[in-house]
Amino acid sequence: MINLSVTKIAEIVQGEVIGDSNRIVNNVLTDSRIPVSGSRVIFVAINGQNHNGHEFVYELYEYRDINVFLVEKDEVNYSLCPEASFVIVDDTLQALQKLAVYHRNRFAYPIIGITGSNGKTIVKEWLNQLLSDEYQIVRSPRSYNSQVGVPLSVLQMDDHFDLGIFEAGISKPGEMVKLQPIIDPSIGIFTNIGMPHQENFDDIDEKVNEKLKLFREVNTLIYCKDHAVIDTIARENTLLADNQLLTWGQNPEANIKVRSIKRLESKTEVHVQYKQQEFNLTIPFIDGASYENAMHCVATMLLLGYKASDIEERLKRLQPVAMRLELLEGINGCSLINDSYNSDLGSLAIAVDFLMQQKQHDKHVVILSDILESGYAPEQLYSKVAQMLEDKGVDLLIGIGPEISRYDYAFDIDADFYTSTHEFLADLKRRELRDSAILIKGSRKFHFEQICSTLERKVHRTILEINLNAISHNLNHYRSLLNPDVMIMAMVKAFSYGSGSFEIANLLQYHRVDYLGVAYTDEGVALREAGITLPIIVLNPSFGTYEVMIEFNLEPEIYNFAGLREFISVLNRVGVSSYGIHLKIDSGMHRLGFLPVQVDELLDIIKSTNSVRVESIFSHLAASDEPQHDEFTKQQIEIFSSVYDKLSEGLGYKPVKHILNTGGIERFPEAQFDMVRLGIGLYGISPTQQDKLMPISTLRSKVIQVKYVQPGETIGYSRRGVVEKPTTVVTIPVGYADGLSRLLGNGNYRMMLNGKLVPTIGNISMDTTMLDATGVDVKEGDEVIVFGNEPTIADMAKAMGTIQYEVLTSISQRVKRVYFQE
Ligand SMILES: *Cc1c(COP(=O)(O)O)cnc(C)c1O
Repeated sequence: MINLSVTKIAEIVQGEVIGDSNRIVNNVLTDSRIPVSGSRVIFVAINGQNHNGHEFVYELYEYRDINVFLVEKDEVNYSLCPEASFVIVDDTLQALQKLAVYHRNRFAYPIIGITGSNGKTIVKEWLNQLLSDEYQIVRSPRSYNSQVGVPLSVLQMDDHFDLGIFEAGISKPGEMVKLQPIIDPSIGIFTNIGMPHQENFDDIDEKVNEKLKLFREVNTLIYCKDHAVIDTIARENTLLADNQLLTWGQNPEANIKVRSIKRLESKTEVHVQYKQQEFNLTIPFIDGASYENAMHCVATMLLLGYKASDIEERLKRLQPVAMRLELLEGINGCSLINDSYNSDLGSLAIAVDFLMQQKQHDKHVVILSDILESGYAPEQLYSKVAQMLEDKGVDLLIGIGPEISRYDYAFDIDADFYTSTHEFLADLKRRELRDSAILIKGSRKFHFEQICSTLERKVHRTILEINLNAISHNLNHYRSLLNPDVMIMAMVKAFSYGSGSFEIANLLQYHRVDYLGVAYTDEGVALREAGITLPIIVLNPSFGTYEVMIEFNLEPEIYNFAGLREFISVLNRVGVSSYGIHLKIDSGMHRLGFLPVQVDELLDIIKSTNSVRVESIFSHLAASDEPQHDEFTKQQIEIFSSVYDKLSEGLGYKPVKHILNTGGIERFPEAQFDMVRLGIGLYGISPTQQDKLMPISTLRSKVIQVKYVQPGETIGYSRRGVVEKPTTVVTIPVGYADGLSRLLGNGNYRMMLNGKLVPTIGNISMDTTMLDATGVDVKEGDEVIVFGNEPTIADMAKAMGTIQYEVLTSISQRVKRVYFQE
């Protein structure tokens, strides 16, 4: 709650006001897609890389009752929002940051600032777990650590809290200087330094120096002295005196000395010496990253004056941090979002936003436990929660816990309350939760994982996991290659190249692509039924489905005369005019499309009717990713352009013009025209810029049996796997019926098992595959990566002698897709 008048905000950001300047603002919104509304919100319109926030001002004013806006000069037409107040500045991002600096300086309580390449979010969340008995903590929601995320985090501060923990991330030089005054930490934690975003820095020293700028005003900086680069640069840094550094590590010079580290089955034991005391700590994790993150927390607690015995006791209870929101398929046609790890206001807001993005369901349900340690008095807390759920459009709340039940009167939306998880589960049968999107969000002690496992549809142990953040990342990469105003049609045909349907389309709609492309009418209908409202083009419409297409507002690709005539006659029959169609031109691929010689006849037919309107004219490249065919590609572009000119001249208007697919976007920027059609690149596969993309899918399976087989025995059908030495064989539940080609059997492919690549042995069966895991420490239940980061889809395609498109699209529908968002 920032509680500032429009006048005051204008003064802080040095802006000019148009309209009523007495309004009071409490909340700041930068992303118009987040469903917040109401009169106490200021929308900050940021002209970003992917969206220009100013485009949404009118919509927010008209439909969401927002009437205070921070905008840049000459970006909006003020007269369209006659009742609104505008604060006008040159640079809204800078203004948001100034506002955050102002707000930060209203509070005197200590702030911990965290930066580094990895571990920021975990250290922040763990400190919250460890310190919340004594402190009321305000912290960055999830990983809000960017130029926009940091100001938004800091704007949550208010005087209920007495400690802040904020993280800062940067991707290029010059950014940290802007974040430092916003966070202005008194305690700094530098987690570590590594590779992310290296491309924008000359070398690692430059990166460390840039990150250190966050700490120029701290009283104490904490870091691991075993990181030599950080140590050298921190000590050379003239802003911090030696006694302001609190270091830990095995280095004998460290202030907190790690004398020994023992990795046991499920925990790590560390022997530590600090000043005069020696003590043992138990970290309930075994990986190196968790050790490092935990030690940063230990150092912070020592600095804050905690006793060794308290630190020891609390460290044992550290809980893993759920870094992601998982979208699962539920029973009774539901979708589930499992966030049963923590509950606080910031993460609740983010999770509810993800819930509301699930347009495939009309009904949105939140199952929420008591919120612990919020820093607010319960009555105030639950009325805030109630307001948020209502603002965001949640249909039903199921509140679980004694406290939330006590404040049931705070909730105006439909709500039911139970005092315990057990009581809710007992009542679940009667409740009949159906066809809904359900967010399951609770503090750990409520054991909501039980609710999740009851509501989840149980299937096959092999899953294809899809990273929705990676799709967003890849989309943004291609956006960055486009000229301003070039539209994007995202291709979601063939079940989004095997990775899902409405789940992907929802995300693309959220990111405001301009069109979706599907292959068949059915695919388009499924998207409409799931609530997708974007224009959808059907590339391969068959005659019999034209009426359905019209009913669902799908636009056909028209590639021949028979199709055109039939479509016109159906339109006439149902009495529709000016229906959008897309003309496909064959510029040389010779698959589908009108040939250049057919243009005159085509024009005659179209001009003789008012039932169709040509929305776009397009063609497809046969070899956009293959340099040896570049002359041919250029010729295709030329032929297409001349056909386009002739058609648009004849029509008397200019339909949208497009030819590029992924390879074309990367290699022929001069042919972007009005729109591009992005397919495989969205799904993480690039012909020429693989390092700019993130892989989106991981095919995971599990060992269901382990055997030790002696020489002379054979494995699998036709006895093809001949054993020559004592061999460990493991079986996994994925076979050719799941899309794992038989070409990959008999050692032709290797999968990742417990950190080692192990080959297939014997023939692949319909439902199972055997791997030679000799020398690997393996037990039943261990995970196997069929493809993902390593081995990659490219490795599998190579082993099969095919292209990655085929690997992606051949994973069968039997394999459940699980989506997650970080
Ligand atoms: C599939 C398809 C695309 C996308 O191609 P990618 O190489 O996957 O980017 C574009 N246009 C048409 C007509 C398509 O069929």
